Amino acid sequence: MAEERLQKFLAASGVTSRRKAEELILAGRVKVNQQRVTTLGTKVDPDRDLVTVDGALVSRPEEHAYYLLYKPSGCVTTASDPEGRPTALDYLRGVPGRVFPVGRLDYDAEGAVLLTDDGELANRLAHPRYGHRRVYLVKVRGDPEAEALERMKRGVRLEDGPAQALEVAVHEHAEKNVWIRVVVGEGRYHLVKRLCEAVGLQVQRLFRPEFGGVTVEGLRPGTFRPLSADEVHAMR
Ligand code: URA
Repeated sequence: MAEERLQKFLAASGVTSRRKAEELILAGRVKVNQQRVTTLGTKVDPDRDLVTVDGALVSRPEEHAYYLLYKPSGCVTTASDPEGRPTALDYLRGVPGRVFPVGRLDYDAEGAVLLTDDGELANRLAHPRYGHRRVYLVKVRGDPEAEALERMKRGVRLEDGPAQALEVAVHEHAEKNVWIRVVVGEGRYHLVKRLCEAVGLQVQRLFRPEFGGVTVEGLRPGTFRPLSADEVHAMR
């Protein structure tokens, strides 16, 4: 493997972000082949050199790929569709290797979908234990009563058990509709739509502006970009 800068190697290994890696190096906490290194930009060969932080060996995890897709409406987030509808993977043609979408976003919903081959991170993001928050903007018909939004926060009973939103607030008034911002802590099937319907709100559009803190800003529907090492690190 080619040589690379020490701080980049540390960030790619998941030890810390690139900026924090620089601090670790400057603080004298990093050694390469037993020698303390305090010069930023020192080159290391990940296949040959032994790198330690505070005495603990740093090994590079398998290289993984991470992409954020701005999913357009009219596409499924399963890897294949028995009905032959477009899938999120169709938008990632040309990407080397096999990635899969993390979680689901409805066929008619738009916004951020993470695609990766990192199963461990995918599990982490899916599991309620890790408290991964999911933010949605929902266009609802009419002007919802404050009480309806409060009920979503207090919790409602759905057919598969109780459910609640962590946050609900009016985001923006449109002409005959209102966009509300809803944050939930789990990825249950149609959860946001069902929460809205349970309190009498009619959902017209569902948009997920970000996933794992990475936003679709700067992307157009149907386009994607790779995540930076810092973005991946922040998701962990
Ligand atoms: N909640 C929904 O209702 N649909 C989604 O796609 C995601 C969350």
